[in-house]
Amino acid sequence: MATNFIQNEIDSDLKEGKYTDGIKTRFPPEPNGYLHIGHAKSICLNFGLAKDNNGLCNLRFDDTNPTKEDTSFVESIEEDVKWLGFSWADMFYASDYFEKLYEYATELIKRGKAYVDDLSAEEIKAARGTLTEPGANSPHRERSIEENLDFFARMRKGEFADGEKVLRAKIDMASPNITMRDPVIYRIAHAPHHRTGDAWCIYPMYDFAHPLSDAIEGITHSVCTLEFEDHRPFYDWLLDNLDFDPKTRPRQIEFARLNLTKTITSKRKLRQLVEENSVRGWDDPRMPTLAGMRRRGFTPRAIRNFCAEIGVAKADSTVDVAMLEHAVREDLNENADRVMAVLNPLKVVLTNYPDGKTEWVVADNHPTRGGKRYIPFSREIFIEREDFMEDAPKKFFRLKPGGEVRLKHAYIIKCDEVIKDAAGNITELHCSIDPDSKTGGKTAGRKIKGTIHWVDAKTALPAEVRLYDYLLAEDGETFNEKSLETVNALIEPSAQFAAPGTHYQFLRMGYFVVDPDTVPNGKLVFNRVVGLKDTWAKVANR
Ligand code: ATP
Ligand code: MG
Repeated sequence: MATNFIQNEIDSDLKEGKYTDGIKTRFPPEPNGYLHIGHAKSICLNFGLAKDNNGLCNLRFDDTNPTKEDTSFVESIEEDVKWLGFSWADMFYASDYFEKLYEYATELIKRGKAYVDDLSAEEIKAARGTLTEPGANSPHRERSIEENLDFFARMRKGEFADGEKVLRAKIDMASPNITMRDPVIYRIAHAPHHRTGDAWCIYPMYDFAHPLSDAIEGITHSVCTLEFEDHRPFYDWLLDNLDFDPKTRPRQIEFARLNLTKTITSKRKLRQLVEENSVRGWDDPRMPTLAGMRRRGFTPRAIRNFCAEIGVAKADSTVDVAMLEHAVREDLNENADRVMAVLNPLKVVLTNYPDGKTEWVVADNHPTRGGKRYIPFSREIFIEREDFMEDAPKKFFRLKPGGEVRLKHAYIIKCDEVIKDAAGNITELHCSIDPDSKTGGKTAGRKIKGTIHWVDAKTALPAEVRLYDYLLAEDGETFNEKSLETVNALIEPSAQFAAPGTHYQFLRMGYFVVDPDTVPNGKLVFNRVVGLKDTWAKVANR
């Protein structure tokens, strides 16, 4: 069980004899975009609290803003929550409650707790006052209950244009908390809704719909981010004034939202990237959306571990994105099979190896999980261009003229000759093998400082490999134009039939995943998930 201040609140509620029917939470996204890593924190928290307390968690679409919402977003959100590994008790929409919410608003009017105002949005704003000055009462504040009921019914019927009238809670224009200065609770919007179509032309405001949706569903703990702290008094005011029982009704608890370095966690900004075609879509592997991270090869387990690791706090802070990558690396280190792939190939001819012969070397798929595979080896191979250096410094332990290196799983080779084109570019190397240096051979134990990976030229598969960098440039603000680099790589043939979503460690090169752009038995496409170098481990162990 997670220990955090919200769990402590739940414990003391239960001790006080509240919520005897059990704990119920909800994850309440607005279907106006795709979920991102920040939402993952909220999902893990809400579903986690429910699980830890033998309770339930609902998925609720907060769809009170018809112009920005869409069914495609609803579908993506359902898929992403499931992918993260959670199942909701019930799925609801705030729009399921439009009729009930209308009744509650009418009840407030009847109790003298709400009124129809004719002021425009600008006028309401101007009369709201400031942190140091009280607001001014609207001239329409003292309308009779009958008049308010009549106007509100006519707002619903569509007799007024957008902005012509609003319904406001009647609280206190001098309250030190500005959100308590007669907040607007209903507005007119002649806009079709993705679920209710043209049935409504008035829509409840978030601050009105949210507490009541929570109460209707029997939510006990309504967990939200810190920016709603000032809204809590209104949350309670509403439930007080509609007679919800304090022993069973929901309470709002705020926690700090997740901010990550080098990462955009604003739906609005992510949407802008999609609309401007700066990225391929919401699931571009550079996007911090769950769909993007899925395609990038981040695993649900890694994301859940990360969320558990960062914990829940009451004060905003920013987490180093290296910590998320660390969680991904840890998971893939444990679970991804190893293969060899060369991202920037340089041809090597093994001059003393028989032409036309192919032998099969055996290799472990994983250092601890077991499993073996065969890898073909013949006279012509490719190595990583960076693993050869013509004028190498002393400490360069890979291949250099006259030097030796071990080919992983195979032989020790020696570089005899460097072949160049007319322009002086290195086109291939001529090397010789030590035929006794293979596992089990006479010189197998010979100490060689460097070991490099390779692929067999005849059988290696061409693969498009996409290398990603952060979407944000070093300044943390501007779009990183160099966030995608594509290379033509070669990979050992065991990867031939790998399905999209399959993870590998390319030896020495990082973790990679098969992209859905892959064509079966045709073009292979890989995304680099993360490199092997763990910058977080260094920070954490300091
Ligand atoms: P944005 O402001 O980027 O549009 P949002 O918070 O309005 O995001 P919602 O769909 O309303 O998006 O969010 C659903 C839930 O996820 C809310 O309870 C919200 O508090 C939570 N959430 C959103 N972003 C974060 C974040 N960065 N860290 C933690 N929780 C978050
Ligand atoms: Mg929101």
